[in-house]
Amino acid sequence: MAMTADPTVDPQKPELTRTAQLRRAYGVALAGSVAGLGLCFALGVNLDDDGAFLLFAPTVLAAAAMGGAGPGLLAATVGAVAEPIWATSQGRHLPAIGLGLFVLLSAAMAYLGERMQVTRARNAIRARRLREREAHLQSILDTVPDAMIITDEKGVMQSLSSTAERLFGWSQAEAVGQNVAVLMPGPYKDAHDTYMQHYVDTGEKRIIGIGRVVAGQRRDGTTFPMHLSVSEANLGSRRSFTGFVRDLTEREQTEARLQQLQSELVHISRLTAMGEMASALAHELNQPLSAIANYLRGSRRLLEKGDPADRPRLSEALGKAADQAVRAGEVIQRLRQFVGRGETEKRIERLPDLIDEASLLALIGARELGVRVTKTYDPNCEIALVDRVQIQQVALNLLRNAIDAMRDSSRRDLSVTVSPAADGFIAVRISDTGSGISDETLARLFEPFMTTKKEGMGVGLSICRTIVESHGGAIWAENNPAGGATFTFTLPMVSEAAAGV
Ligand code: ADP
Repeated sequence: MAMTADPTVDPQKPELTRTAQLRRAYGVALAGSVAGLGLCFALGVNLDDDGAFLLFAPTVLAAAAMGGAGPGLLAATVGAVAEPIWATSQGRHLPAIGLGLFVLLSAAMAYLGERMQVTRARNAIRARRLREREAHLQSILDTVPDAMIITDEKGVMQSLSSTAERLFGWSQAEAVGQNVAVLMPGPYKDAHDTYMQHYVDTGEKRIIGIGRVVAGQRRDGTTFPMHLSVSEANLGSRRSFTGFVRDLTEREQTEARLQQLQSELVHISRLTAMGEMASALAHELNQPLSAIANYLRGSRRLLEKGDPADRPRLSEALGKAADQAVRAGEVIQRLRQFVGRGETEKRIERLPDLIDEASLLALIGARELGVRVTKTYDPNCEIALVDRVQIQQVALNLLRNAIDAMRDSSRRDLSVTVSPAADGFIAVRISDTGSGISDETLARLFEPFMTTKKEGMGVGLSICRTIVESHGGAIWAENNPAGGATFTFTLPMVSEAAAGV
């Protein structure tokens, strides 16, 4: 913290130790008493017997004030003995009244001196502890990563920690006295005074003790995200506020980078899935293309014959060729959407449509294998807020895995069910009659690079989990009692009313 040290303490001037103080006080006691006796002799006849004690009293006072009871009593004793010796040596009578008063007065001075010493020592200890605590606090404040700004109740800055100076680009000297609103961009700046006044008037806390993410503004006008929490201190008649600021720039950048990496990964895995399906896809496209070629060849023959009676057949053949071209175009279109990078964006979607579309891609080549597919969609839970391509990617992954698992099965039944689940979720279940999953695989199923396939990458399911969890759902797998496996993933349900459908 760029705060100042205690101005009452001069570090160049070490405090006197107690022993040195005492030594000095005893010195004063003895020297003062000797001087007092000397004065007695010097003034001689002019002195009153009792009044001569007055020459010793200042020494008692000074010694007691400087060193407490010990030096004070020493000065008193020397005075009480020396004065009567002097008096008798001068042939005067013993000054009993003066002696009595002197002893009483000296005792009182010694007592008060001692009290003063004790209080002074206590104060010194207290001041030292305070300095130590302040130094400790200072070292903490200098090292905590949070920036700290102290303001009064009007929002005027009283001090800034060094982290705050670095973060906002204002030095302590420049910032103190300015309103803290200079550290905020537009909308916050304008509203800040009103917030403060509102809190002072009503006591309603919007940020104090709660903390929230807001925008901060550096001196050069650039803004950055920050987490701000404010604490309040009541200093008798005054109030002060301390703002703790954590710069979130780096965290947001890391999060954005992670998100970007994740969506890259998701994208790459879609490409991989399509790569694995390349031959099936080629086949899927080949069918309409050969059909088109056949229809066109036939049409050409009919045209060459030139028989007007063939015109309806010609028209029919061309129509069919056009249909097949559209079909091929649709496959390509679907593929392009699926492998495209696309913005990840959640929209209200109808799950049956979305799953139907994904299964068209997933089931390419499955018919040849003799896979029977049944789909059951509960009409009460058809709407979800999802990223269409990503959820299709999950469905496609699960469907392809199910088909792979059934390659060696005698029964190849694949069922897709969408039904309500607990706590306002929709469950999508994909169940097969395949090999099932061994306990060992089951335990690590969703871990990246977990595969039992020769050509497998083992990233499909881990990506499915990332996608489902980023939608607020969960994914799990279990073996069916009658053989095969069931994969279930959930998505938060959206009511038709809320979706405005
Ligand atoms: P990959 O398909 O590349 O192996 P996945 O992450 O999609 O990667 O799957 C990981 C493993 O999970 C598969 O290798 C397989 O052993 C197992 N698995 C996934 N789905 C099923 C299923 N329906 N039936 C049996 N095992 C499955």
